[in-house]
Amino acid sequence: MVRESLIKGLYLNRVLGRRDDQSGRLHWFIFLPALCVAFAQVGAVAEEVIETERALPIERLQFDDGKHCAASDVLFHNARVYTPIDSGVTPIKKAFTSETRRITPSERDLAARHYEIASYKAIAIKDGTFVFVGSDREAEAWRCGTSQVIDLEGATVFPGFTDSHQHLEGVGRRTKTLSLFGNTSLKETVSQIRDWSEQIPEGGWVMGRGWIEREWRDEQRFLTRWDVDSFTESKPLYMPRADGVSALVNSKALALAGINRDTPDPEGGKFDRDAEGELTGYVLGRAMDPFRAILPSETDAYLKDNLLRGMQANAALGWTATHDAGMSWRQLGLLHDLHQDGKMAHRVYVAVPIAEAEPLMEQGPDQTEDGWISLNAIKVFIDGTLGSRGAALLKPYADADHNGFMNRTAKDELMPVLEGALRQGLQVMTHVIGDRAVRTTLDWYQEAWNTLPRTQWAKHDLRWRLEHAQILPKEDQERIASMKVTLSMQPSHAIGDLNFAPARLGQDRLATAYPWQPLLKQGIPIVAGSDAPVEVGDPRIEFFAAITRTRLDGSSGQGWHPEFAVSRQDSLRMLTIWPAYSAFQEGYRGSIEVGKRADLSVFDTDFMTADPAKILEAKTIMTMVDGRITYAQPLLQKRLENGQ
Ligand SMILES: [Zn+2]
Repeated sequence: MVRESLIKGLYLNRVLGRRDDQSGRLHWFIFLPALCVAFAQVGAVAEEVIETERALPIERLQFDDGKHCAASDVLFHNARVYTPIDSGVTPIKKAFTSETRRITPSERDLAARHYEIASYKAIAIKDGTFVFVGSDREAEAWRCGTSQVIDLEGATVFPGFTDSHQHLEGVGRRTKTLSLFGNTSLKETVSQIRDWSEQIPEGGWVMGRGWIEREWRDEQRFLTRWDVDSFTESKPLYMPRADGVSALVNSKALALAGINRDTPDPEGGKFDRDAEGELTGYVLGRAMDPFRAILPSETDAYLKDNLLRGMQANAALGWTATHDAGMSWRQLGLLHDLHQDGKMAHRVYVAVPIAEAEPLMEQGPDQTEDGWISLNAIKVFIDGTLGSRGAALLKPYADADHNGFMNRTAKDELMPVLEGALRQGLQVMTHVIGDRAVRTTLDWYQEAWNTLPRTQWAKHDLRWRLEHAQILPKEDQERIASMKVTLSMQPSHAIGDLNFAPARLGQDRLATAYPWQPLLKQGIPIVAGSDAPVEVGDPRIEFFAAITRTRLDGSSGQGWHPEFAVSRQDSLRMLTIWPAYSAFQEGYRGSIEVGKRADLSVFDTDFMTADPAKILEAKTIMTMVDGRITYAQPLLQKRLENGQ
């Protein structure tokens, strides 16, 4: 029995990605929790697992030197540590299992569970796992042996922040294409495009993204080809708007794609035209496809480099994980290459777009042994965006004579996918923005759940998600709570939409727009994300937006419901434990607790007490994933190198 458990313990150590001890000795205090896991598995009752897998209290640990001294790899002290308190620590494989089993009471409670926020001063890490969290005084026991002791000088430490909705390749690509984010005028935007195009060789593509007319002070209109044709005669131009579902193209690109004034609009798309029927060069939805098809061929090396740069940019901002809302198999393969090369800078939880879902429905969920890449979801698209009036609303727009579009995925295409997801235990993440899209998607989720007998579900703890879900009438909020659907929302979208949502929706409907606080009150977990590169993708901005619900300058608008803002504690949960929960990872990350993997985001500013404006100026001190530093501020880097 003991021998069998020892073997299982060793196996689990490997599963958890723990490296073998260099000297060949076994550290019992790491080994014992694994042993307990092994014993619990013999029992095979899920409730027991959660109980017995808690790490051991310090007095029960056995130490190398026989003394009451527990050498850790690294001890951080003199810090302000804030963390939600979770109660269950489970090994990665267990948290990710797709085997059929009954839902446990603890799982049922999880979504609504109120994770208390605790604060500490010190953390010790061994083999990438938290082995201690507590006061500076208690930390003394870990300040011996080989541990590296780092005085964080009052810096603020959070469990690793997760951006729950990103497009990683786009984040990396953004570093290589002209960024038009943050421009405040049409004039400035056009002149930046002119400068950028000058350094592109003849015949080369002028690429950029992120323009957003509603933030311009001189003229608020969509860009047209006439704005850029004069300096791009010999160079095709393609520049998606910030929302990514429309783009500017120039005359050269139209000619190359063979699009002229006689070309009909494709289904689900539109070539914008002026009063005379001339193409303006602004293209929407599926009308972007002919241009995407002729963009310069993109090599694996180019895409792989984008993924790498995206992760590096994210790590520098303090992100320790992202949920990728639609990553192609091709990109996923390249991400695995980066993983193999040891170049990952944070964890990635992957949803494959519905168009490529077939292989996933055959093979089921998958993840690397160390949990850095998890493939577990299908991304579905239902409607468009509010800014472009593509979001599907129940009632017509306040500033247009239609109620948006819901033509991106048809029901007969979706239902077999929902069923496949149930059979394989896959999560479904659905892009819905308008209330009509939300309501219809909930109907379809429910229909799939009612249709496929539960005995054929791979698991019952579904945690299916709605992405964005910006307009939510009260009755749908109640339904979301009862269906235990998780909402993935973008605080930064709300403070950006503040500029046009009142016009699109009218004052009354604003009472149902981005209603974070009412949702939390009903026990619905919200996971915060940025949708980068649509938004900047910065945890400081997401945290600020969630607690203030104002523009970055602190201003707001009439009828904007400041009471829908959330507390700092909830904002922290939205960036840490709830994202871990929504990725089935709360068993090994999402909070700073003994036994969980060491993911940390460290800043020079205390988000929990600082003036909100100061949060936006915070500097990242360090980002750590799995006990590995993925970003360190230069000063800290130096200290680490000098071993102090
Ligand atoms: Zn997105």
